[in-house]
Amino acid sequence: MNAKCAWCGEELTERTGTERDQGLVSHGICDSCRRTFFSRSLGELDLFLDTLAVPVLVMDGDATVRYANRTAQTLLAKDLPEVRGFKNGDVFECVNARLPGGCGKTDQCPGCLLRRTVEETYATGGRREKVPTLVTRFSNGRPQTVRAIVSTEKIDNVVLLRIDALDPAE
Ligand SMILES: [Zn+2]
Repeated sequence: MNAKCAWCGEELTERTGTERDQGLVSHGICDSCRRTFFSRSLGELDLFLDTLAVPVLVMDGDATVRYANRTAQTLLAKDLPEVRGFKNGDVFECVNARLPGGCGKTDQCPGCLLRRTVEETYATGGRREKVPTLVTRFSNGRPQTVRAIVSTEKIDNVVLLRIDALDPAE
């Protein structure tokens, strides 16, 4: 069975064994998505991301959200004006984002794997696949820890953050 592109869901085309050995088909992104990501301006990228069934945030190196595709807006129950320009902790409603200093500036923030994953991908260009992170957020006014599984891909000067799962932790 062929693997599917983690972004658009299309089946990844079968390659030769040599290509597979070289890791060319192991990244979960199809040629079409890769070409689209790298060939479009950011405005066009946003439009393309809106066609995807997976939730994707476009972030800068400081984990500030520049865009959230429609699926992400639905998942997070926020409209674009409620996420654009906000930090990851605000968007995920992390309890620490409400502390003095805000997201990224509190004592808890250096241990935040969500932020670190975005920052590392931004700094190194290296993609991360399905990183399990924990976020404590307010749900109906009460703190609740959720598990956010995220993947990252750096495109030009932004990081695409795909939310592979967002579920209450055990
Ligand atoms: Zn694809």
